[in-house]
Amino acid sequence: MITKDQILQWLEALAKSFNENKDYLTELDAAIGDADHGSNMSRGFHKVREILPTVADQDLGTIFKTVSMTLISTVGGASGPLYGSFFLKASATAAGKEQLTSEELGNLLQTAVQGVIQRGKASLGDKTMIDVLVPAVGRYQEAIAREDTIQEALFKTVTTAETEMKNTIPLVAKKGRASYLGPRSAGHQDPGATSCYLILKALLETVKD
Ligand code: ADP
Ligand code: MG
Ligand code: MG
Repeated sequence: MITKDQILQWLEALAKSFNENKDYLTELDAAIGDADHGSNMSRGFHKVREILPTVADQDLGTIFKTVSMTLISTVGGASGPLYGSFFLKASATAAGKEQLTSEELGNLLQTAVQGVIQRGKASLGDKTMIDVLVPAVGRYQEAIAREDTIQEALFKTVTTAETEMKNTIPLVAKKGRASYLGPRSAGHQDPGATSCYLILKALLETVKD
């Protein structure tokens, strides 16, 4: 079970994490993009943290919908609408709920990833967020099906996310700005795959304590 308080802690922790990792993400984006992924994510989740108290007494659907709208209006670039879709799908799955079972969290993550795929039309191996999200959430589902606890399942999720984040390094980008570089995009870790890893890592850290 994951409670609303934990979800709120996770979303707040993201403001801190993206603030701390701002330069790291910007350096990654400088190599194969336009050097703004760190500031985009940091600005977006800073605003989310500001707005959260106004919806903290609402259901999880409303909370995730607010996150989605906030990211769409403040992040910009490719990642704003993509993370906006992620949290919009999450909000539909969480509508009317105050907490999520491990299965419900799995459904939410799976649906949210489908939102990113529908919006961005990326396939596995295109060197995007999808390369982390799809295998990581698949690992979560597999772990829950084997009756792992949420903590154990999220630990495996984050381990997979980290591996797959590093596995984006040799890939040639097929979507987004990095694809303009063609083969020269190989040899660099994808910024969006990295922010996805950070989002999942913050979720694990929230349920651990
Ligand atoms: P922009 O490229 O517009 O400056 P960001 O720098 O914030 O936006 O985000 C770039 C990241 O967005 C990339 O590293 C990649 O992971 C992700 N991305 C770009 N296009 C797509 C897409 N079509 N599907 C999934 N992810 C994508
Ligand atoms: Mg960029
Ligand atoms: Mg940009």
